[in-house]
Amino acid sequence: TEKMLQDRQKLASIGQIAAGIAHEVKNPLTSVKGFLQLLKETNAHPYLFTMESELEKAIDTLQNLLQVSKPNLHDEPIIEIDVCKELNSLMLLFQDKLYNIKIIMDIRDCDKHIFGKKNLYLKAFFNLMKNAIEAMPSQGILRIEHYFQDEYVHVKISDTGVGIPKEKMNLLGTPFFSSKTDGTGLGLTQVFTTINDHNGQISVHSVVNQGTTFHLKLPQLPSRCKATSRCVD
Ligand code: ADP
Ligand code: MG
Repeated sequence: TEKMLQDRQKLASIGQIAAGIAHEVKNPLTSVKGFLQLLKETNAHPYLFTMESELEKAIDTLQNLLQVSKPNLHDEPIIEIDVCKELNSLMLLFQDKLYNIKIIMDIRDCDKHIFGKKNLYLKAFFNLMKNAIEAMPSQGILRIEHYFQDEYVHVKISDTGVGIPKEKMNLLGTPFFSSKTDGTGLGLTQVFTTINDHNGQISVHSVVNQGTTFHLKLPQLPSRCKATSRCVD
């Protein structure tokens, strides 16, 4: 099953409400976490460690929510990005932690750099790699491709994992859609938002029990951002 995924609209309304709530809730939680850390120093009760890691999960979710719902408020400059270099660094980050996953890098046309918000792009690549790895709980192959074609830098992240059932394809990118027990359902929302904000394209090809490929087409210059140095519509 294959599908083009371009859906800014559904993010807009829910995103604005969510960002407001996320901001309000994150501050008190962060403060609780700080006091918990102090408590841990005098009292090493095991519940405190559980409380801390649960709090961290909640704060992380809120942080992600803030990032996906207000990407344009992240006043990041548009800079030149060497995508090959960044993909390599991300790969090294994962490689150390993976014993049963083989990583294949198929990296070409590295002289073709792109312009964009680097941290948003890095987070998007990271989110796709993380999903790919999580789709292969026992073993598999993570393939990372980079090449230049038809005026676009293409990045493909493929796994040989569980795949995505056809009826779930439409839900990809919807905030909070997750099939994982401990998922946030915000990773792909961040990916779609970032690619859209840079005038890129994203498509997914998936076969259940065989694997999934996310295919990104990134323009060298995000035209909408060019004039103002900001990705505002
Ligand atoms: P999360 O990873 O927290 O569940 P995401 O937004 O990153 O949230 O992904 C949403 C859902 O999309 C996942 O729960 C999973 O069902 C599906 N998905 C995303 N990437 C893959 C993949 N590479 N293989 C299989 N399913 C995937
Ligand atoms: Mg994810």
